[in-house]
Amino acid sequence: MSDCLFCKIIAGEIPCNKVYEDGNFLAFHDIHPKAPTHVLVIPKTHLVSLADATEADSALLGQMMDRVRYIADVELNLEVGYRVIINVRAGGGQEVDHIHVHILGGKTLPF
Ligand code: 5GP
Ligand code: ZN
Repeated sequence: MSDCLFCKIIAGEIPCNKVYEDGNFLAFHDIHPKAPTHVLVIPKTHLVSLADATEADSALLGQMMDRVRYIADVELNLEVGYRVIINVRAGGGQEVDHIHVHILGGKTLPF
């Protein structure tokens, strides 16, 4: 989607600090980290939010969570633990309308 920030990052039009990439997913450091480690995992296909997903997206969502586990454990070495967040639509704090999973870690997280 041409006016989507994360699609532009996927296309290489906007730089990112990349952590992981495969044919279907990209992970990169959040530009305003809210924990010592704060990484975003996104699918390369434009899906607006979890609320916009359908059953047809089940495989994609499952694969995305599998990548989240791999990236947290293997790429980021967060064996001690981490938090996974998906903000959904404006009321849930979603600012970028391309579904993304936040991985937060690197310290003991509050509540
Ligand atoms: P949301 O609030 O939509 O769940 O999360 C969007 C996240 O994207 C925010 O944590 C914000 O800091 C991050 N972000 C916004 N613009 C950029 C950018 O250009 N590059 C990177 N790496 N992260 C961004
Ligand atoms: Zn997009």
